[in-house]
Amino acid sequence: MQSVKNTVLSSVDKHREELVEFLRKVISIPSVTGQEGEVQAYIADYLRDRLGLRVDVWEPSLEELSKHPGYVPVDRGYEGRPNVVGVYNGAGGGRSLLFNGHVDVIPVGDESSWRHHPWRSEVKQGCVYGRGASDMKSGLAAYTFALLSVVEAGLKPRGDVILEYTVDEELSGNGTLAAILRGYRADAGISGETSSMNIQPACIGRIWFEIEVRGTPVGVQRKWEGVNAIHKGYKLVQAVDDFEQIRLSEVRHPLYPDIREAIPCLVGVFEAGSYPSAFPDRCLLKGSLATVPNEDSDQVKTRLKEHIQAVASTDPWLRSHPPVLRFKG
Ligand SMILES: [Zn+2]
Repeated sequence: MQSVKNTVLSSVDKHREELVEFLRKVISIPSVTGQEGEVQAYIADYLRDRLGLRVDVWEPSLEELSKHPGYVPVDRGYEGRPNVVGVYNGAGGGRSLLFNGHVDVIPVGDESSWRHHPWRSEVKQGCVYGRGASDMKSGLAAYTFALLSVVEAGLKPRGDVILEYTVDEELSGNGTLAAILRGYRADAGISGETSSMNIQPACIGRIWFEIEVRGTPVGVQRKWEGVNAIHKGYKLVQAVDDFEQIRLSEVRHPLYPDIREAIPCLVGVFEAGSYPSAFPDRCLLKGSLATVPNEDSDQVKTRLKEHIQAVASTDPWLRSHPPVLRFKG
């Protein structure tokens, strides 16, 4: 057993430079969510030509996805931005292993504020820098080269190994859902997401929500007659913060000793008003909250709904004009 381990480790060492080149290449191809096509074409070719895998490239179908309860609504389809899966056929008789990861990255924002250029994948002091270096192109490179190193060491696993490179994770997770619907299953799975090199045997869930609140439109010169939607919206931001405090005091999970990291709940977008000198009569909050394994997400949603209703009932305006809570996935 020790010799197998050493054989694999020395193969990993042997492929170090090639791995760094692969990682730098996939970082240097911008793949902000919605623009994953080019990097996927590169990866598909690589899996076919370098690893000799059976490669499946397909554009997920919005029509098929939208029938699944795990679907997260999105405002664009998957034309020109396919999923890529590479399959290594094992010798037979073993258990299969699936690696999952996403190729999309979030936008870079102001490029001039980056210490290292987001798309040049610079190497400095043993680290590779760039958009997606951590989340999660290094994960993709790691599992691509894990398989490559095992195979090039002359070993043949008994079980199949499935490598997934999915799209649209940053906005929805629909890429992975599409891979499941495509039939990719295994006896065990590993996600290469960022984890500070820790093994994380559990995964949180996330619930997306919106809260809309209305005030009254009124001319700014008689603003005392109106109800300011920003003030009411802020009250609901505080209500969401309070809801997090309640959950922090109640929710426990053995795999998350610091529960604060597991169940963040917040309003991340606050949209209100249309003009600096116009009275704001509508406010839209967009937020998310996380759940731990074995929590019933419908129950958590009901609790949030009841909490928002309870807070609204303490405010004369919100009591008669209740905020509208919508769950978005
Ligand atoms: Zn990620």
